[in-house]
Amino acid sequence: MNDKVEGIILKQSDYKDSSLLLQVLTKEYGKIMLVANGARKPTSKTASRLLPYTKNEFLFDYHEGKNMFRLKNLSLIQLYRNLHEDVEASLASGVIGELADVMTYEEYDYENVYQLIDEAFYLLNEDKRSDLIIGIVLSNLMKMNGIGANVDECTICQKKNVVAISAKDGGFLCASCAQSMHVQPRQVNELKEFRLLSKAQLEHYDILHNLIEDGHPYIDILVEILRLHHGISLNSYHVYQSLLPLKDAS
Ligand SMILES: [Zn+2]
Repeated sequence: MNDKVEGIILKQSDYKDSSLLLQVLTKEYGKIMLVANGARKPTSKTASRLLPYTKNEFLFDYHEGKNMFRLKNLSLIQLYRNLHEDVEASLASGVIGELADVMTYEEYDYENVYQLIDEAFYLLNEDKRSDLIIGIVLSNLMKMNGIGANVDECTICQKKNVVAISAKDGGFLCASCAQSMHVQPRQVNELKEFRLLSKAQLEHYDILHNLIEDGHPYIDILVEILRLHHGISLNSYHVYQSLLPLKDAS
C-alpha cells in the first residue's frame, strides 16, 4: 500500500472522459502505466504537473502482475525546464523518450536504463549537444539488447583492417568485403568517430564533444540498423531531423 516510487514520465495521453494516462519509467518496476483520474477536468490542478520528461515521486498501490495503477499523488523532483522550452532539447527528449519505450522489454535491466535516460535528460537540460546524447543513448540501448553495431572488425570476415561502415551488414567492413558488397569506403576519421560514438558512455560527453563535430551521420547509420534488422522505425528521430534545421532560423 502507498508505494512511493521515483520515475520519469515518458508519455501522456487522454484516458476516458476526463483522465490522463501516463507511461512512467521506474527503476523498480520498469515501465508502468498510471491513471490520473479527473486530471483533465477544468478544475484539476494536477494536469500541469504531469508533463513528459519530468522526474517525480509517484504514490500508488503496487500489485504484482499488474501494469496499470491509479495515481494517488505525486511530487516533483526535477522539472528539466529546458526540455520544455528549448526546441532542440525538446525534440531530442522526444527521441530519448521513444527509445526508452521501444527498446526496453519486460524483465529488463531497468536500473541501468533508468540511469541512462535520467542522465540524458540532465545533459539536455544543461543545453548539451543533442546529437551526441541521442547517439550515446541509442548505441547503449542497442548494446544492452545485444544488437550493437560491430565496430571492432569486419562484420563479414572478422578482418581487423576496416575501411567502410554498412548498416545492411551491421557494422564495419574490410576493403574486400566493402568492394563485394558495393559499399563506399570512408575517411579514417569517420570510422574513428563512429567507433567512438558506438562505444561511449554519457560520462564521456565532454571528451566526445571535442572529438566529434557532428554525430548525426552516425546516428543515421544506427537508426538504419534498427530499421533494417529489427523492424524498429524511430518516428521521433525523423521529426527531430526534419524540425531541427528550423531551430537556427527562429
Ligand atoms: Zn571482410
